[in-house]
Amino acid sequence: MSDQRVSVLGVDFLHTTMNEMVARLAKHLEQEDKTFVVTANPEIVLYAEEDEDYRGYLKKATYITADGIGVVKAAAMLGTPLPERVTGFDMFMELLALANERQYSIYLLGAKDEVLQKTIAEIERQFPQVNIAGSHHGYFDWEDPSIENEIQAAKPDMVFLALGFPRQEKWIAEKMDSFEKGLFMGIGGSFDVLAGEVKRAPVFWQKIHLEWFYRLVKQPSRWRRMLALPIFAGKVWREKRKGTS
Ligand code: UDP
Repeated sequence: MSDQRVSVLGVDFLHTTMNEMVARLAKHLEQEDKTFVVTANPEIVLYAEEDEDYRGYLKKATYITADGIGVVKAAAMLGTPLPERVTGFDMFMELLALANERQYSIYLLGAKDEVLQKTIAEIERQFPQVNIAGSHHGYFDWEDPSIENEIQAAKPDMVFLALGFPRQEKWIAEKMDSFEKGLFMGIGGSFDVLAGEVKRAPVFWQKIHLEWFYRLVKQPSRWRRMLALPIFAGKVWREKRKGTS
């Protein structure tokens, strides 16, 4: 499996398909490695450009994958294409299926408590062989070490953090040295999606790559965050012109 990386505005993305990525992570799990996965979208790439601390967290990641069509399009524009998007939510589902098959243990950290409880119920329903080693909602005191202590004791195979960025990457980067093993991954609002609190765009909107537009219409309050997309596109365009001039 190739370890080729593709740089988009300074963030190094792994050149991978979803299937290859899951196979790669399955191997790390077999070997009981410690792995830190970031799925980065255009908003994250822009944030990393501006925030030195966040760039430091990304440096600690084992892999960064392209979360969203914006990153895939940018890579193609820059002449270094990525095969497809490998999103946080889809990878979460694939990893739950793997955990179900191999009876792995998982720890869930994030979202509001009621959303977390619904997420747990949904995982128990869809993936009954998964061992849920522990969980905690996402509104905790960062100074309190009890969550880390719980994870250290339970040694789950996978730890999913649904805290939104940059919190989830910060938490993993700061704490990962204290764990022996495990696959650590930030998955943003994925618990809300699995719990049925937030609907993903219907497949049609995903296929025509307008999932972002669907989300904007459903949650107009996101418009400010959506401004990241044209800003990102502009920066990639300038980067491309630099490369060809
Ligand atoms: N969240 C959390 N703790 C916080 C702030 C947010 O657990 O201190 C949760 C929030 O409840 C939601 C998730 O983080 O479930 C993702 O939030 P957001 O939609 O901002 O993230 P995105 O998916 O856009 O990165």
